[in-house]
Amino acid sequence: MKHEGFKDKLYNNDTDIRQRLFVLNSMITEILLVVTLIEIFLTDDRLLDRILIGVAILFVFAIAFFSVKTKKIKFGASMICFMLGFIFFPMTFIYGGGINGDAPIWFVYSILVVSILLDGKTRIIFYVADLLIATACYYINIMHPDVVVESSRIQGNIFSYVSLILISVALSVLVGLEVKLFTKEKKRAEEQKKEIEMLNAAQNQFFSSMSHEIRTPINTIIGLNEMILRENINDEVVEDAVNIRSAGKLLLNLINDILDMSKFKSGKMHLLIAPYNTGNMLSDLVGMLWIRAREKNLQFRINVSPDVPAELVGDEVRIKQILINVLNNAIKYTKEGSVSLTVQCEQLDNETCNIIYTVSDTGIGIKKEDIPFLFSAYKRVDEDATTHIEGTGLGLSIVKQFLDLMGGKIAVNSVYTKGSTFIVEIPQKLVNDKQIGEYDFEKNHGYGKKSTYRQKFEAPDARILVVDDNEANLMVVSKLLRDTKVVIDTVRSGEAALKLTQNIEYNVIFMDHLMPEMDGIECKKRIRNQTGGRSRDSKIVILTANAGEENRDLYAKEAFDGYLVKPVSGSELESELLRHLPKDMVKVMGGDDEILEETISWMHGSQKRKMVAISTESVADLPKGFIENYGIAIIPHRVRTEEGLFKDGYEIDTAGVIKYMENTSNSVLPMAPDAKEHEAFFAKQLSYANNVIHISISSKIENSGCPSALEAAKAFDNVFVFDSGHLSSAQGLMVLEACRLAENGMSPKHIIEELENIKGKIHTSFIVDNLDYLARAKQVPPRMANLVKSLMGRPVLVLKRGRMKLGKIYFGSSKNAWKNYINACLSAGPKIDTKVLFVTYVGLNKKDMDWIKAYIEKKMKFDQIIFKQACASIAVNCGPGTFGLLFKEK
Ligand code: ADP
Repeated sequence: MKHEGFKDKLYNNDTDIRQRLFVLNSMITEILLVVTLIEIFLTDDRLLDRILIGVAILFVFAIAFFSVKTKKIKFGASMICFMLGFIFFPMTFIYGGGINGDAPIWFVYSILVVSILLDGKTRIIFYVADLLIATACYYINIMHPDVVVESSRIQGNIFSYVSLILISVALSVLVGLEVKLFTKEKKRAEEQKKEIEMLNAAQNQFFSSMSHEIRTPINTIIGLNEMILRENINDEVVEDAVNIRSAGKLLLNLINDILDMSKFKSGKMHLLIAPYNTGNMLSDLVGMLWIRAREKNLQFRINVSPDVPAELVGDEVRIKQILINVLNNAIKYTKEGSVSLTVQCEQLDNETCNIIYTVSDTGIGIKKEDIPFLFSAYKRVDEDATTHIEGTGLGLSIVKQFLDLMGGKIAVNSVYTKGSTFIVEIPQKLVNDKQIGEYDFEKNHGYGKKSTYRQKFEAPDARILVVDDNEANLMVVSKLLRDTKVVIDTVRSGEAALKLTQNIEYNVIFMDHLMPEMDGIECKKRIRNQTGGRSRDSKIVILTANAGEENRDLYAKEAFDGYLVKPVSGSELESELLRHLPKDMVKVMGGDDEILEETISWMHGSQKRKMVAISTESVADLPKGFIENYGIAIIPHRVRTEEGLFKDGYEIDTAGVIKYMENTSNSVLPMAPDAKEHEAFFAKQLSYANNVIHISISSKIENSGCPSALEAAKAFDNVFVFDSGHLSSAQGLMVLEACRLAENGMSPKHIIEELENIKGKIHTSFIVDNLDYLARAKQVPPRMANLVKSLMGRPVLVLKRGRMKLGKIYFGSSKNAWKNYINACLSAGPKIDTKVLFVTYVGLNKKDMDWIKAYIEKKMKFDQIIFKQACASIAVNCGPGTFGLLFKEK
């Protein structure tokens, strides 16, 4: 066995580079110390010096040996740095002549060793400590020179000279070896990178040839299976053939997905950007998927907003792929109920818009903890629920990668066992300002392609040639086109094709690409240039197992008249022929009325999706009219009494709760909905909106719904909880503001920024008749409530920084107190926004309200003064005879 030398060991990449650096440094330090010891023996007779160096030599050796053996390199490196910087340097300094000795040179060495051997925080700590020690040594040398043991001048000079030479040589060797080591490492890394690239290229080549090879037999299986399905066969055979068809398609999808993944991995996935017709794209999509939904008895709804541009620029094929994946999943993972697709548009600037596709289902849903893994390749989540559903876990990963490439994004909102919503946003360039309008799927092609065969046309006078080296492929094409009555010739080589094209004029030629001797591209060129050839002007369509965009590009560049990928269906072959055959040769067959009807029926009646839905709690004290007009979703708080738990506003009202409290001393507690209730509430909102902004009562109020709303929002990507910092109609004012902004089409982010701006400009205060109710709710001591009452004090509760505080107390009759309260509220004068003023009250009669209104109007003119009875949950704390002026500053 060849003995491995030091250099081999140093450059041997099997060992960790830190360990190699450590061994190298330890060896050089050891050599330096040994040479110094020899020097001391020769020039110095002080025992202490010899002992010091001797111990250092033994220490370095022991530490290096121990660290390498136990693989504790970090520990060893720290110990050596400690020994050099903390012991060896200061001792050499003090006992070796201080500034005039060799210690300063050793200091440089110890600092260098720190920078080579240590990293992270340890390195910084050692640096700082070394510098402090050096400073201390110099300080001692200057301030207390007698502490330093001076050598004789000659001896000091010799020491300093020898150390200078030694350490310079050591440093240059050390740095030289390390530079070489790093150069070697870099070269090795580059070689490895190249190797990986080669492996990747080989893998890609493998995937693409595997895809080609697998497509050819699948072509035969799917093609011949389609022929079986066209026959008059019994139900059992139909069922078998349908199963073969789905298995074949599944296999095909798998190949496509693997091919895409390998392209993404090698960075070779590119988009093909071109203008496309949005309506046609959607029709195609719907046509592909509706039948699957129907087979599972699911309702399939589509809603396209009329302002979606009629034409866009982007990669239509990949967008379809993304949507097919997401819609397919929705259908796959839904047992009953519905799947819906909504398409909306958000203008970004004059040239671009965001197209928002929302796919919602009522399926099995996704667990909150699984959502972060949805887009990982090969990862299927919730295996218990999905094992019986076919899939590979590749789909969403590919979707995500395509969206990244397009600058788009995808968000998921899901409630486990209830359903999921996937929101896909894709920025697209605009072609013109034409809008899709009320898109008429009926007039457009592509809808309702039923999976069973429906013959499109007959053309007995047409003649076509199919060129393919594989006999089975020829048979499949001939059989699939049998019912069209087209005359079909087949040949197995380019040479044979040229013999026929010399004398026969074919309307269309289907040409395979990869054939031995003469390939399809070469054969097409020869047909086009064939002297006296009768098919020089025939339409030549490439029919190949080479899938992928780069092949599409290649065939387009080679000027083929069409591109079909194997496995090819009868319907695709017919469509391609229909495109190329002269119109007078073709007799088109009847339309698909039944399918058309069905297709349209599920397109109608679906709800319009909102971009942003605004929701809040029942404690926001908004009038019914506003709630209905703006479609504000309200989650009710509860009131807990001895009789049970009641939904505020539904099962209990303000008058009821006040009456109950007057008749009993039992406790009455307002309670916010919990996280589970909020989660279900948000899920419902997301079934008709892309985003939800939930405006909550101040988080600092006791029994606030804010924490549970925030907890629930974690389950969704698009639910934003905004802490209003207020309550009652002041919270309601913020809700109204949010509704106005949402109606103006503002994005959730901007709405929240605006709300943050106005938060400090809203005033919440109430004047209460007494503090009895607050005392009952244990918010103030009963003694204080009694005292205030006995003095006829009418306290004002003011909301400051989210908390309710006791403000001024007005004494005297209630009218007097009210006057003072109103005057104080309106003292801000011109700063007040006079559009709307809420007077939110508990237990006031009509006369009182009229008086309050008249008094306010005397003081200030408001466009609208809205009297709103506070909800039961608020009333519980205030009691009758309470009202508040809630308004906004400009
Ligand atoms: P698969 O081939 O398994 O469907 P995907 O990448 O398309 O792979 O999806 C990954 C996982 O995400 C699925 O296995 C499934 O658990 C979950 N999933 C995707 N869409 C839905 C949905 N609409 N409803 C419920 N679960 C879904």
